[in-house]
Amino acid sequence: MPRSDPQRRSWVDEAIRRVDADANRSADTHLHVFPLPGGPGIELYLKDESIHPTGSLKHRLARSLFLYALCNGWVGPGTTIVEASSGSTAISEAYFARLIGVPFVAVMPRSTSARKIALIEWYGGRCHFVDEAPDMYAEAARLARECGGHYMDQFTFAERATDWRGNNNIAESIFAQLEKERHPVPAWVVVSAGTGGTSATIGRYVRYRRHVTRVMVADPENSAFLDGWDLDTSDYTTGAASRIEGIGRPRVEPSFVGGVIDDMVRVPDAASIAAMRWCSRRLGRSVGGSTGTNMWGALTVIERMRAAGETGSVVTLLCDSGDRYVSTYYDDAWVAEHGLDLTPYEAVLAELEETGRFTG
Ligand SMILES: *Cc1c(COP(=O)(O)O)cnc(C)c1O
Repeated sequence: MPRSDPQRRSWVDEAIRRVDADANRSADTHLHVFPLPGGPGIELYLKDESIHPTGSLKHRLARSLFLYALCNGWVGPGTTIVEASSGSTAISEAYFARLIGVPFVAVMPRSTSARKIALIEWYGGRCHFVDEAPDMYAEAARLARECGGHYMDQFTFAERATDWRGNNNIAESIFAQLEKERHPVPAWVVVSAGTGGTSATIGRYVRYRRHVTRVMVADPENSAFLDGWDLDTSDYTTGAASRIEGIGRPRVEPSFVGGVIDDMVRVPDAASIAAMRWCSRRLGRSVGGSTGTNMWGALTVIERMRAAGETGSVVTLLCDSGDRYVSTYYDDAWVAEHGLDLTPYEAVLAELEETGRFTG
């Protein structure tokens, strides 16, 4: 169907209406107060992105990517959507593809867990496998070309598909929810980076609104983001995969906007997992691995604030639920098999509970 066809235009109108109506039916995500050990003066909040219909912060990204593609005229009736993702992005995009009635194909490594494949298929998506993870991107582009489909390309478009000035993006929502708190403008927002889209949105928003808030990105082992940021280059690669699902990349992704990040911290994977388990126990709800990375980063800035005698609030993200990691990060045998020793980090968290000081 030619792009100017009125029937195509009315199909696009209807698809946008469905995506919009879905957002209108959805509630905003909670901002929990985290019970922080130690004296008063510093508050920590967790933005709970696990309660989106598809269970992670990728629900926001998928909605933005679909609206962006629809409004750019890239998607019409019957356009197959292709994405390179073995994780949360594929699950959320499969949901939106079904919502507007187009086919969805996720290109992923053959080693992807059966549980994730089942979830993508449950939403009506099809999984297409490659033998080596780095081949996903070229294969997704090839597949889209071949079937006249659209390669969504989260790592390129995450940064520009979101309205960073507002329109109920994650940053605007956090600031609105903090309005009646003791410190409504946070001193720090701590996030981690997969595409880099979330840190780009929050970083641009706080600058646009001229808030004093600073943005920290916590990066797991093997990720290229931190060294790329330190060296101020997007050319940096590690060539190694991250063990913390959803975050940490072997290369600096195009959606990672280093200029809006005030500080970065390296979090050992065992510290992420120890903090994930500690956070779940203390909060009374189960959180995923990247939330542990975020928590370790948040505790790092909070300790700096405490040492400097500062008061204020800190916000970090609960990116997805621990339900997805019962047989990995929550399983002691899996942790041991992967050569991870949580003991020193658990001791740091126990000391924090006792003394209110974080020595991580
Ligand atoms: C994608 C993802 C992140 C990071 O978000 P980006 O906006 O892509 O940088 C963190 N945690 C989980 C579980 C994710 O899936």
